[in-house]
Amino acid sequence: MAARGIKVAKFGGTSMGSAEAMRRVISVVRRPQRDARIAAVIVSAMSGVTDQLIKIAVLASKKDFSYKELLAALETRHLDTVEKLVSERNQAKARVEIEKMFRYLSEAVQGIRLMRDLSPQTLDYIMSYGERLSAHLLTEAMNDQGVAAEYLNARKIIVTNGHFGAASVDFKATNIATQKYFRTHKKLQIVTGFIGASPDKKTTTLGRGGSDYSAAIVGAALGARVIEIWTDVSGVYTADPRLVKNAKVVPELAFEEAGELAYFGAKVLHPKTILPAMREKIPVRVLNTFKPADKGTTIVSSFAERKVKSHTVEALTFKRPVIVIHLQSPEFFDVNGLMARIFEIFDGYRTSVDIVATSVAGVTLTIDSDKHLNEIVERLKKLGSVSVVRGKAIVCAVGGSVNVAGVAGKMFTALGKNNIAVELISQAASGISITFVVRERDAEKALKVLHKAYIS
Ligand code: ASP
Ligand code: MG
Repeated sequence: MAARGIKVAKFGGTSMGSAEAMRRVISVVRRPQRDARIAAVIVSAMSGVTDQLIKIAVLASKKDFSYKELLAALETRHLDTVEKLVSERNQAKARVEIEKMFRYLSEAVQGIRLMRDLSPQTLDYIMSYGERLSAHLLTEAMNDQGVAAEYLNARKIIVTNGHFGAASVDFKATNIATQKYFRTHKKLQIVTGFIGASPDKKTTTLGRGGSDYSAAIVGAALGARVIEIWTDVSGVYTADPRLVKNAKVVPELAFEEAGELAYFGAKVLHPKTILPAMREKIPVRVLNTFKPADKGTTIVSSFAERKVKSHTVEALTFKRPVIVIHLQSPEFFDVNGLMARIFEIFDGYRTSVDIVATSVAGVTLTIDSDKHLNEIVERLKKLGSVSVVRGKAIVCAVGGSVNVAGVAGKMFTALGKNNIAVELISQAASGISITFVVRERDAEKALKVLHKAYIS
């Protein structure tokens, strides 16, 4: 049995959001685990708590005393959860710990009020209470229900630099500290997501939504078999289920496919957050705390790792609005030099270009933000004549082999039959995606048409 290896499981804010939800978390953790033993559970703060902590800190820094009510409400919410979740004989102990944390938190907030100063360092410290409270609460509840578990503040294992608000992880130091800690702590560890500490032991955070990242960091350090991300949906969908009735969960995706979907607007686990796992080739499974029997989506490190190879479109998404910019330049004979200069302009305004198409007479590209559009157009005009068309959308179709003969043909025939005009078609060389531009008002229809043609 010992050879099965270990895994880590992360539960997000909704899964930690109430006594009822936490009860489900505990039952998920208690289920017989066939693939590997759960060594660590990584948790988010209870839903909404991080936002509330930020609000409290900001109000206090403006000497707005209404922070006191918010702080009291936060304490009540946590204590109520203890009351509903922990049996009477263990309640007092659990309460004491939560109350103590709120005393410290309240002192820190008073400090902010008196100083009228809220530095990123202080804000990280304040935000860290969200995960510390939820992890404590869950640990008490687990122990109460006979699951031997221990609280672990990630400050002890995740080493970062001092870039408060979005600290970078020192993987070498983190891996050593994590492995060492787990060698001497064999009980199930309930770990605070989102937070770490700088070498001089100041609390840092990994950026909003950082608990997925924490799970990948810990899983990678421990050489986990799999990293489970438990959330409130059953995985990555073939298309946004609010728009496409027949949308279903995609069983398996390669890391690059998930990346493409996320980039073009799909709500999937952000690929960047699981990079540490992908580097170690550890699969990441997205699962639903509220429907634990659902199979979920497994994200593997590369297309080559996929068990079932894909030969068609597997998932669709779109991004809107996008702006199409067309540049016609007499310098077309020196396309390379021209392209470099064009990209420099967009880069200078930190505006990323999504699709590029070139012809002998010019270049067409798309951007999704008009923040610096005027400045960009002014500069492009020095290179040639410029036209700007708004009100477009990019549709992205993902699937391992969308580049095989016939896929694109069938796709554009289906769209044509439905009077959807397509422009700027772009196919990734790796063959995992096709993207193209349509009118913004056609985007939803395009999604439905293609979903019907390929998936349902
Ligand atoms: N609680 C943190 C946030 O809301 C981290 C997380 O939930 O992943 O940003
Ligand atoms: Mg959250």
